[in-house]
Amino acid sequence: MHSLEHIAGELRKRKQKLTPQRRLIIEILSSDRSHPTADDVYSRVVAVMPEVSRTTVYNTLRELVAMGEIREVQGLSESGVRYDTYGAEHQHFFCVQCGVLEDIPCSSSSACCGQEGMEGFTVLRTETTMYGYCPQCGEANARER
Ligand SMILES: [Zn+2]
Ligand SMILES: [Zn+2]
Repeated sequence: MHSLEHIAGELRKRKQKLTPQRRLIIEILSSDRSHPTADDVYSRVVAVMPEVSRTTVYNTLRELVAMGEIREVQGLSESGVRYDTYGAEHQHFFCVQCGVLEDIPCSSSSACCGQEGMEGFTVLRTETTMYGYCPQCGEANARER
């Protein structure tokens, strides 16, 4: 995500204001690397501003996706779409036990971006998700055995 000032500028270009609600949602997102769901964001918003409606939160998330500030991560949570606030190109590690979604930096030397058999294709972005157990769950499982 860009800075609050940058996003405020982008909103102005779209003839939209940085309302206190929008500001709060952006602040919550920019400090959150856990890939929250819309409901997670909503509960953190109402803890500060109880009057904010679910619709406002959902609409703001949709706007930020349209602006390219955050990205939807599909199919990794039973409670719906999760939101990715980390701008740089990266991969994900998803823990099938606790549902944690970790950002893994994508090194350009990594094998995930193989070009073989891709003549004629234009890659816009790459999304890689690794599935398994996070260190905490792996350790807990080992202890149980
Ligand atoms: Zn885990
Ligand atoms: Zn991510």
